[in-house]
Amino acid sequence: MTSLNVDVFVYPMEPYNSPDASGAGEIVTWAPMSSTLISGPTEAILIDAMLTTHHADAIAAWAKTFDKKITGIYITHGHTDHWGGGGRLLTHFPDARLYAAPEVAARAAWEADANKKSRYWSSRFPGQLTDPLVVPTVYPSNEILVDGKPVNIVHIGQGDIDGSVAFSVPSIDAIVAGDVVYNNVHMMFFEADEPGRDAWIESIDKIVALNPKIVVAGHKSVGAADAPDNLAKSRQYIRDFSTVARRGGSVEDLVNGMLELHGERDQNHTLWISARAEVARRQAAQV
Ligand SMILES: [Zn+2]
Repeated sequence: MTSLNVDVFVYPMEPYNSPDASGAGEIVTWAPMSSTLISGPTEAILIDAMLTTHHADAIAAWAKTFDKKITGIYITHGHTDHWGGGGRLLTHFPDARLYAAPEVAARAAWEADANKKSRYWSSRFPGQLTDPLVVPTVYPSNEILVDGKPVNIVHIGQGDIDGSVAFSVPSIDAIVAGDVVYNNVHMMFFEADEPGRDAWIESIDKIVALNPKIVVAGHKSVGAADAPDNLAKSRQYIRDFSTVARRGGSVEDLVNGMLELHGERDQNHTLWISARAEVARRQAAQV
């Protein structure tokens, strides 16, 4: 019996309309993002829809080259840059539906509602989002069948936000990990303080225990291998960030300390955002 295949599309880093004043050497780009096609002989599903209409059009153009029936688009976590392109993707794949686990759908609905007032996403990508955003529907099971073969939803918990899930493809020992794992991209701690980061490490350990041979990260460099060593590398990056942050000092000190250890990673803007958030949390705790 044929097994399932996993193929990964990466949208590269691109400039966006950031409201933040940038630091010395900071390059303001949105992180490279992945969308994964899990396919059998005739059917396929997509994992993650990215953010904008141009992202969705790029995913669709790529996915159509596989010539499979796309039965569903499934989302790893509620950050809008992983599902906001879903409405546009559905126009390319009318037989599909946009689905997420309950905790993911709830966060997505919250983000869509918050954006109406905050314009968080609309201001960063003006005129580039579907309006209104199409929020994923709750998928009522932990098993998805692709040509009769299972893909399992694993409720992981803390990644770069809580309530993250991964998709396990047991027939080929693959895990599509969303933002629980990063691959050669600076990791986002805007919403992950030190206790959150400790929980995140436990999430990575849950994936390690599944002993995967293929690990797809939500944010990965173009061309980077979907190798399981990204689990240990992500865990080490998280530990190093907490170690450097505990030394105190400025945003620049934290950025430079991390660049000494992990300067090969893409997307230093994310490191700056993480460092600003960490120093702001420290200052708030001292008041
Ligand atoms: Zn993300």
